[in-house]
Amino acid sequence: MPRILDGNRVRDDIKSELKPRVDALAARGRPPGLAVVLVGHNPASEIYVRNKIKTCQDLGIFSESITPPDSISTAELLAIVESLNARPEIDGILVQLPLPPQIDSKRILMAVAPAKDVDGFHPCNVGALVANLPAPRACTPAGIIELLKRGGIAIAGRRAVIVGRSDIVGKPAAMLLLHEHATVTICHSKTPDLPAVCREADILVAAIGRPAMITRDFIRQGATVIDVGTNRIEDRGMVARIFRNSPEKLASFDKRGSLLVGDVDPIDVVERAGAYTPVPGGVGPLTIAMLMVNTVASAERRSGIC
Ligand code: NDP
Repeated sequence: MPRILDGNRVRDDIKSELKPRVDALAARGRPPGLAVVLVGHNPASEIYVRNKIKTCQDLGIFSESITPPDSISTAELLAIVESLNARPEIDGILVQLPLPPQIDSKRILMAVAPAKDVDGFHPCNVGALVANLPAPRACTPAGIIELLKRGGIAIAGRRAVIVGRSDIVGKPAAMLLLHEHATVTICHSKTPDLPAVCREADILVAAIGRPAMITRDFIRQGATVIDVGTNRIEDRGMVARIFRNSPEKLASFDKRGSLLVGDVDPIDVVERAGAYTPVPGGVGPLTIAMLMVNTVASAERRSGIC
């Protein structure tokens, strides 16, 4: 049986390590502060934001959510970001994506002060990532590195293949793996013979957004497989196909009306991989944990601790 890289355990370890750092900041005058801007009523975003606020509360991090309506303009949202940039007790600003279509998302992300950009999306911080300089790193890719390191998976000298080239997952994950001395290949929808490229991977990262697309043909025997995909399936037939008619999974689907599936085939990965991240309970929990790491680090930098 392959080893499961348990994201919940790693998240809990990271939170335990953060707690004394939060307490030390609070003892010096104030706890770290995170502002989350959630525009409108996207149900998935509302769940993410609730979880982020709850994690702040667990750790003693001050949090504030700002919830402007769907109809907000780019100029009005820019004004909110500017006011958060100016507030000394706010160390991190997170603008929950996606934003409504009338909003110029790039302008909003560029407006967040780089020192408070705990998502690591500002071009200054992307540049720092490429140059391997200290700065907030994109949370999900940073979480992948934590999972690998804390799971005892060697990265230096290994072949890493990443499927997906988004600015929030694929590209920053590739950079971080490169800085850890992996030999990195980035794939996308135009990559010819994707299964053959993926089979070269010692470490295969799937960040695609297509349920169970990575099947046994893509996975070299014994490879480490990191599944970033979070696809909510509402089609019972698809659940039956992906989970080979598993009665437990079908019962779970019937109870909830949907099921979360990664980008990697959940049965094939168990048969082929040496280690893998499950969905749920793999990469997902690390994203919020790394947001907390970035917020605490930002507070420490801003208060002159490091
Ligand atoms: P994007 O849609 O931005 O990017 C998807 C990438 O996959 C693109 O580069 C695209 O290629 C590539 N792709 C799509 N179809 C294929 C294909 N058939 N063959 C090869 N490559 C393909 O997605 P994100 O990076 O934002 O997210 C990816 C997944 O990760 C999603 O399921 C998302 O929900 C999940 N996610 C999970 C997080 C977590 O905390 N666990 C956090 C963030 C994302 P091209 O560029 O050519 O179009």
